[in-house]
Amino acid sequence: MYPQSPLMGQMMNQPLLISGILEFAARHYANSEIVSQRVEGDLHRYTFRDCHRRARQLANALEALGVRMGDRVGTLAWNGYRHLEAYYGVSGSGAVLHTINPRLHPEQLAYVCNHAENQYLLFDFCFLPIVEAIAAHCKTIKGYILLGDADRMPADSKIPNLLCYEDLLAAQTDEYAWPRFDENSASTLCYTSGTTGNPKGVLYSHRSTVLHAYASALPNVLNVSSRDTVMPVVPMFHVNAWGLPYSVPLSGAKMVFPGPALDGKSVYELMEAEKVTFSAGVPTVWLGLINYALQNNLKFSTFRRTVIGGSACPPAMMNTLIDEFGVEVIHGWGMTEMSPLGTTGGLLTKHMELPKAEQRKILQKQGHAIYGVDMKIVDDDGTELPWDGVAYGNLLVQGPWIAARYFKDEGGDVLQDGWFPTGDVATIDPDGFMQITDRSKDVIKSGGEWIGTIDLENIAMSHPAVMQAACIGVFHPKWDERPLLVVVRRPGQDVSREALLAHFDGKVAKWWLPDDVVFADALPVGGTGKIQKNKLREQYKEHRLPTA
Ligand code: AMP
Repeated sequence: MYPQSPLMGQMMNQPLLISGILEFAARHYANSEIVSQRVEGDLHRYTFRDCHRRARQLANALEALGVRMGDRVGTLAWNGYRHLEAYYGVSGSGAVLHTINPRLHPEQLAYVCNHAENQYLLFDFCFLPIVEAIAAHCKTIKGYILLGDADRMPADSKIPNLLCYEDLLAAQTDEYAWPRFDENSASTLCYTSGTTGNPKGVLYSHRSTVLHAYASALPNVLNVSSRDTVMPVVPMFHVNAWGLPYSVPLSGAKMVFPGPALDGKSVYELMEAEKVTFSAGVPTVWLGLINYALQNNLKFSTFRRTVIGGSACPPAMMNTLIDEFGVEVIHGWGMTEMSPLGTTGGLLTKHMELPKAEQRKILQKQGHAIYGVDMKIVDDDGTELPWDGVAYGNLLVQGPWIAARYFKDEGGDVLQDGWFPTGDVATIDPDGFMQITDRSKDVIKSGGEWIGTIDLENIAMSHPAVMQAACIGVFHPKWDERPLLVVVRRPGQDVSREALLAHFDGKVAKWWLPDDVVFADALPVGGTGKIQKNKLREQYKEHRLPTA
């Protein structure tokens, strides 16, 4: 609580509520379209006005089912209009939307459902086998709502109290007044990926979500306007699709949801058909799209801007998108605990005259803080390090859309003097541009010195024969750990270990050079599209380096 001034402002005191975003879109951009590639296989289209009507029917249906303020309602769904209705119908009515990553292991799915104490679970019918597998282990769920028409309901199913979404909505009127309540009430719950231990819940509030939506639409950030057609490729089950289901409606832009079809061909064809101008996704998804377009000699007719984050955008990917396709790349950084956006890349006026190569170096950084987020880098004793672009340290953040603790206080007090430790290691330059050198768990500790793996991976991926690369530390008798590079070659391309090592010459300090290279058919990728380095470390833990 903060002290009150003897003279308080006299503005209307309206709480910042998620329902207000859709209410605004439906009233002021009523005819902006929402197009969805459905799990059913067809394309569905309607408007913000329709979405608002059905979100209100959903709110009535939830009330009829006995869902009350603060109750958790889970979703297991791809990006689509029904999921969007749940974003607003659930949170808007005062209940808490728990978006669940279907790529989690069934045991983890049951764990998060129980931990969240979900009352109901809404799911796409393609996830029926998953729901059948976990239902017996989910102790608090009173009913399972299949997101589809009655004809999609299975004839016989072991799932207790299986309900049909469309029937539930059809039984309700769209007369519903969104309740007003404290903007600090919980709105949404999302669990971290949990690479080590159980996933932890991050509980967003209406206030944090609305502020994040406002800030993320700004020109320096995602620059979303009513003239855009936005395709969130990043899933709605992972940190609210980077806030796009909120920032797009408040901007009045058209939305295009790709559903489950995330391969290069499907994404390309939907982008072209619906004239998508802006999209957002992780590097592994863009890899598929870029390869498809290159192999088929295709260009984009309307796609002009993309934000790439979730893991470092390889410079080679950025260069291809800009130089081959004329697509502006905004490098974004954030995390589940940050709603997720913290920084976005871009150029300042003084950079406009720089040679292209210098400009790219700036664009390749994870970027500048967004208003609302403060950050600093500290050494292991907590002493703040200079913003000189050279000193690197643990990155700490604070702001109104950054978690202060985890749901049910898992992990105890996480803040350090009011700052959230991100677990990332970074530099910050004098202009405030932050660059991640590594995740602290992935840094290679060679003879007490740190080697950042992102740089090494980016250099490897700048070789034309390399499609993906991951660098991990493996045991070395003298230096404790030394870098091992795991490489996936492009189909039909070849490069030897020696040629790849020679490609590093002059690009990094000699002691950073990988000690060895191994070739793999694929790299393990987790549920949120990140390369699972813990799995690689396990796989290569017996690898004997030639230098050992
Ligand atoms: P998550 O909570 O699953 O979204 O993961 C957040 C983590 O992903 C961050 O702490 C970073 O380690 C990593 N990350 C996200 N964006 C980037 C980026 N642009 N570059 C490097 N790492 C990133």
